[in-house]
Amino acid sequence: MGEFVALSCRFGSECTAVAAGTAAWIGSSVVTVLIAPSILNADFSHLADEIAAVAGADWLHVDVMDNHFVPNLTIGPMVVKALRAHSTQPFDCHLMVSPVDPLVPAFADAGADVISFHPEAGPHVHRTVQLIKSLGKKAGCVLNPATPLAAIENVLGDLDLVLVMSVNPGFGGQAFIESQLAKIAALRKAIDALGKPIDLEVDGGVNAETARRCIKAGADVLVAGTAVFSGGPAKYAANIKALRT
Ligand SMILES: [Zn+2]
Repeated sequence: MGEFVALSCRFGSECTAVAAGTAAWIGSSVVTVLIAPSILNADFSHLADEIAAVAGADWLHVDVMDNHFVPNLTIGPMVVKALRAHSTQPFDCHLMVSPVDPLVPAFADAGADVISFHPEAGPHVHRTVQLIKSLGKKAGCVLNPATPLAAIENVLGDLDLVLVMSVNPGFGGQAFIESQLAKIAALRKAIDALGKPIDLEVDGGVNAETARRCIKAGADVLVAGTAVFSGGPAKYAANIKALRT
């Protein structure tokens, strides 16, 4: 039995995530699992109300798609800026865009707290990490289902977050790709070996059943779209609770 690890709050005094999150055993330590609803599956005609209805979650995940790097077109920085006034949650902006560097300052200005990008989205991964951090934001790298851990191995220690895609990026509502559990487990080992507070997030096909296996493999942040935004706003709190148990 390992020692209890109390994670320091990732966002200082503004953050209530640790208190709200779920304690779980990861490896030999207890960590807090955070839930990040993806607004990709929210009702876009009532986004402010949808966000208010998931106020009990820890982060808000924003899936940004450019119809170039991925086959869909979603949310830009102006929408993020408009939503910022309606939430106190950290905004976790997942940029599925290429090239990524020109858009990073716009999302930082719009109120993103975490900015994640795919290593395939630009030729200089470390430079993009530096750019995000220079703007005072947390930097994350995202691994597609076919992208190996080796793609970010040399920058892992510079990251605040690694996001494992458990579906191919582009659309919500897809089925969880089982092979990604081994990648999550390998990343958990690599992160623990570094001893740095790097979050390990999973995005795609997360529901109450797959959530448990992701946590067991070592994830500590779960993105959920359909599993949260279903059944109408009155159900969202219960949907979030189901992912925590
Ligand atoms: Zn995402």
